[in-house]
Amino acid sequence: MMAAITAAAAGVQTEILESGPVLGKKILSTGNGRCNLTNASLDPALYQGSGARIAAALIKEFNVRDTVGFFDKIGIPTVAAASARGNDSWIYPACKEASAVRKALELECERLGVSILTDHKVISVEKFEKEFVITTREGVRFVSDRVILTTGGKAFPKSGSDGSGYELAAAFGHSIVSPLPALGALISDSALCPSLAGIRSDAIVSLIVNRSIAAEETGEVQFTEYGLSGIPVFQISSRAVRALTEGKQVTVRINLIPAWKLNDLYLKLSERKVRRGLHESGTLLLGLVPDKMVPTLLKLAGIRLHIPCSEISRDALMKLAYNLQNLEFEINDAKDFDACQVTSGGIPASEVSLNLESLKVRGLYFAGEILDVDGPCGGYNLQWAWTSGWKAGSEAAK
Ligand SMILES: Cc1cc2nc3c(=O)[nH]c(=O)nc-3n(C[C@H](O)[C@H](O)[C@H](O)COP(=O)(O)OP(=O)(O)OC[C@H]3O[C@@H](n4cnc5c(N)ncnc54)[C@H](O)[C@@H]3O)c2cc1C
Repeated sequence: MMAAITAAAAGVQTEILESGPVLGKKILSTGNGRCNLTNASLDPALYQGSGARIAAALIKEFNVRDTVGFFDKIGIPTVAAASARGNDSWIYPACKEASAVRKALELECERLGVSILTDHKVISVEKFEKEFVITTREGVRFVSDRVILTTGGKAFPKSGSDGSGYELAAAFGHSIVSPLPALGALISDSALCPSLAGIRSDAIVSLIVNRSIAAEETGEVQFTEYGLSGIPVFQISSRAVRALTEGKQVTVRINLIPAWKLNDLYLKLSERKVRRGLHESGTLLLGLVPDKMVPTLLKLAGIRLHIPCSEISRDALMKLAYNLQNLEFEINDAKDFDACQVTSGGIPASEVSLNLESLKVRGLYFAGEILDVDGPCGGYNLQWAWTSGWKAGSEAAK
C-alpha cells in the first residue's frame, strides 16, 4: 500500500493485486492489535540480512520522522511508549488500533485512485520486451510497465504471505537466501520447561552459541511448556535459528536477578537465611522471583522445600545464587513460520540496486519482507516496509 500510494501520488496509474480478501491483513495482528508502526530511537545498525546496509541507507531517505509525518497526514496521529527494555521508545497510532492504520492506508490508496483488486493471487509475472504480463490464479491478465513485488516472506501465512513471491522472483533468475523463521519462540527439551510453564519474569537473556555470548536482551521472558517466549527471546531468535541451521550448539542463559553481582546476591541470600531462621526454605526467595518459580529453583540447588532456612548449607546457597543468574536452556529448535513474526532471508541485496530495482530484469522492484532484511521487535519491520515501499514506489513511478 505504501508503494502504491507513493507511485500514485507521483501521478502514475497504479493497481494493487492482493491474493486475500482484504489489503494489509497482517497489519491487524501487529503490536498485539495496536500496531507498533515505528521506533523513535530506531538504530539502523540493528537490521540483519544481506540487505541490512541497503536498509540502513534507505532509512536515511525515508526515516522515522517521515513515517510519523506520513501517518499524521493520512489521519493517524501517533504516540511513543517506552518499551520493556526501557532504552527505546516504540511508536503506535494514538488510538492504539492497528485496524485504523490499515484502513487509513486503504483510504489513501482510494483517494489517489489506486485500483485495488483483492482475491487476485498472482501466479506468474513475465516480461515481453518492455511490458510485464501478470497472470492471476483467477485467470485474469494484466499488462504493465513496472511491477513491484511486495508479497512479504513466509511468516504468519494465515495473513496471506505464503512465500509465493519467492517463486515469482525466481522465475526471473533471482536466488533466494533460505527463508527462516525470526522473532519467534525457541523450543527446548529442558526438564525445567514443564515446571516453569506459565511463569513470566523480567530477566537478562543471553544467547550462547558454541559457548560464546552472541547476543543479550532485557525484558519479560515467558516460560512455556515447550521452551521460551517473550520479546527478549524473539529478539535473539533469528540468530539462534541461523546458528541451529549451521549445526552449532545453542543455549539460552537467563539472569533472573541481574541487579547484583553474584557474590552480593550470595550475601543477600545469606542475610535472608539468618533473618528467616526457622521459616521454611521457600521463604528465602520471597519477593525476589515469582512465587511459582520457587520450588523449581530450590530443587535445582538441591534444597528441600520444607526444611527451615537455617538448615540450608553454604554450598546449596551458593548454587542457588548461581542458578538465579545462570538458568540455562539448551535450544533444540524454534517455532515455525505459523507462529513467528518475521522471515529472515529472501531476495539477496546483491541482486537489487539501491533503488530496489531487480538487477536481473529492468522494471521489476521489491519492497518489504520479501527482501533479505529483518529487524528486531519494536517497529523495525514495519519501518522497513514503509521505507522500502516509499522507495520502490517513487523509483518505479519515474
Ligand atoms: C503477529 C505479528 C506481529 C507483528 N508486529 C509487528 C509490530 O508491531 N511492528 C513491526 O514493525 N512489525 C511487526 N510485524 C512484522 C510486520 O508485520 C511485517 O514485517 C510487515 O507486515 C511486512 O510487510 P510486507 O508488506 O512486506 O508483507 P506482508 O505484510 O506480509 O504483506 C504481503 C501481502 O502480499 C499478499 N500476497 C502474498 N503473495 C501474493 C501473491 N502471489 N499474489 C497476490 N498477493 C500476494 C499477502 O496476502 C499480503 O497481504 C509483526 C508480524 C506478525 C506476524
